[in-house]
Amino acid sequence: MMKKRQVVVKRITGGSSTRNIRYVECQKNHAANIGGYAVDGCREFMASGEDGTTAALTCAACGCHRNFHRREVDGGEVVSESP
Ligand SMILES: [Zn+2]
Repeated sequence: MMKKRQVVVKRITGGSSTRNIRYVECQKNHAANIGGYAVDGCREFMASGEDGTTAALTCAACGCHRNFHRREVDGGEVVSESP
């Protein structure tokens, strides 16, 4: 009698729904503490770490949290990551 083996394949990915969403200009005001307004000029968010880590939410270019970057939702463009 043969036993059937059940193979469960679980894919552990970042799981984030980054589809059609990208983070562009950094809008953090670096001069807020002196009552001015100055951004660091970062044009696009680049994760400084892998998805799922806190570093993924920190911009590698300017060091600000992703929340400071303007979120842009694309209509058609789909950025797919190659495995
Ligand atoms: Zn920044």
